[in-house]
Amino acid sequence: MLVLVMWSTHSDEQTSARKVCARHHWEVWHVATSSAGRDIFDIVVIGGGAAGLSGAKITARSRRSVLVIDSGAPRNAPAEGVHNYLYAEGTSPAKLGEIGRTEAAVYGVQVVAGSATSATVIDEPGEGQPRFTVTIAGQDGGARTVWARRLLLTTGLVDVLPDIPGVVQRWGRDVLHCPFCHGWEVRDRAVGVIGTGPMAFAHRAAFRPTHRRCRLLPAHRPGPH
Ligand SMILES: Cc1cc2nc3c(=O)[nH]c(=O)nc-3n(C[C@H](O)[C@H](O)[C@H](O)COP(=O)(O)OP(=O)(O)OC[C@H]3O[C@@H](n4cnc5c(N)ncnc54)[C@H](O)[C@@H]3O)c2cc1C
Repeated sequence: MLVLVMWSTHSDEQTSARKVCARHHWEVWHVATSSAGRDIFDIVVIGGGAAGLSGAKITARSRRSVLVIDSGAPRNAPAEGVHNYLYAEGTSPAKLGEIGRTEAAVYGVQVVAGSATSATVIDEPGEGQPRFTVTIAGQDGGARTVWARRLLLTTGLVDVLPDIPGVVQRWGRDVLHCPFCHGWEVRDRAVGVIGTGPMAFAHRAAFRPTHRRCRLLPAHRPGPH
């Protein structure tokens, strides 16, 4: 099988190279290109948690050039270990991230520590040209702009916690968000489900298999945190 690596950054050169490939049924393999200081990637992934690193690895294995931007604050960070992930039972969130980055790097994925502060659509980019620019505020204090043909947004969720003393400090340890992820670890202990909305009834029901002593504790809806 023949593979053409397209280093050219000029759209007319890329177009004629594509035609040559099509004529000979050659495979086209994109790589990161740069022109006049532009870093161009097939895919820029914003958010390097479990979802982002999985997406990065999968697309890199399809021979796409991939950059992951990650600000390093996964939602599950306070947890001692992850559960219900096959082959990773009890692994710390930090270790899981390290494993994910190592696996992705095997296929050429680059990871930059920082925050994506803006993403802009490029009007009429032209065939094969990047369609987005992304600005990165690096954790080293520097700023950088990269160009992407596709964006993958995997920034996760932010938990809005109720304004109850101690909840923030105990979050992810003995104030838990999910009976399936961490119910087993505290099984048979008395549990109070903080009821901030209608889903609290379903949550209490979900705790029943692991917790016989489970009470619903009505609370006010949380405000912005
Ligand atoms: C305390 C706790 C424990 C949990 N335990 C489990 C468990 O045991 N098993 C389970 O299956 N699930 C668990 N979960 C759910 C868990 O959050 C998800 O399984 C997993 O973390 C989701 O991965 P994700 O990649 O979608 O998001 P995240 O892991 O949250 O990753 C998102 C990443 O995007 C980054 N990011 C956000 N915005 C930007 C930006 N603008 N620029 C750059 N980077 C950005 C963040 O810093 C973060 O690193 C738990 C959740 C909580 C709160």
